[in-house]
Amino acid sequence: MELLKERIRKDGKVRSGNVLKVDSFLNHQMDITLFEEIGKEFKRRFSDCSITKILTIESSGIGIACIAAQSFGVPVVFAKKNTTKNIDGAVFSAQIESFTHGRVYNVVVAREYLSPNDNILIIDDFLANGKALIGLEQIVKKSGASLAGAGIVIEKGFQNGGKELREAGMRIESLAVIKSMSEDGKIEFE
Ligand code: 5GP
Repeated sequence: MELLKERIRKDGKVRSGNVLKVDSFLNHQMDITLFEEIGKEFKRRFSDCSITKILTIESSGIGIACIAAQSFGVPVVFAKKNTTKNIDGAVFSAQIESFTHGRVYNVVVAREYLSPNDNILIIDDFLANGKALIGLEQIVKKSGASLAGAGIVIEKGFQNGGKELREAGMRIESLAVIKSMSEDGKIEFE
C-alpha cells in the first residue's frame, strides 16, 4: 500500500532494538483518514471471506481494528491484558510475550464474545516475531471459531514471525513489509 509506505518513510523513526516508532500517525496520534484507507484495503484483500468479527489486542491494535470494522460491518473484540487472576472459566486465555515491553501478558477474551459460528479476522498494527498473532490464534482455536487470517499494518519482514506463521498455514496480509531499516532513518520495503 503505497500511501502507507510513503507515510512510514516520511514520519517513521527507527529506534534501537529494531523498533519502528510511528507515533505521529498510528500508535499515539492517529491519522483517521489514513486508517480509513487501511480499513478499505483490508476489506479488499479479505473480500473473499465472510468475516463475522475482528479480533485485536489492546492497546495499539484497537483504533485500527475499529476503523477497519466499519468497512466490514462487524464488531471488534479486543483481547485484554489481564491483571485479575480469578476469572478462569469465563474467558479464553493465552500467554503473549510483548515485543516492545519484554514481559509476558496473560491475555483474555470473554467466552461470550467468540463462538464456533464466528469467522475471525485478526488485525494488529505490527508483526515482528509473531507472538501476538500466535496468542490470538490460540484464543480463536479455544473458542472453536474459524480464523480467516490476519491483517497487519506494518510487518518487519526481517524478523521471523511472518515467515514462520505463513509456513504454518496462516493467511497474513501485511500492507507494508519492511525489508530493512537502520537507525540513520533508512527504511526499505519488500
Ligand atoms: P510480535 O508479537 O509479532 O513479536 O510483535 C507484535 C506486537 O509488538 C505488536 O502488537 C506491536 O504492538 C508490537 N511491536 C512489535 N514491533 C514493533 C515496532 O517496531 N514498533 C512498534 N511501535 N510496535 C511494535
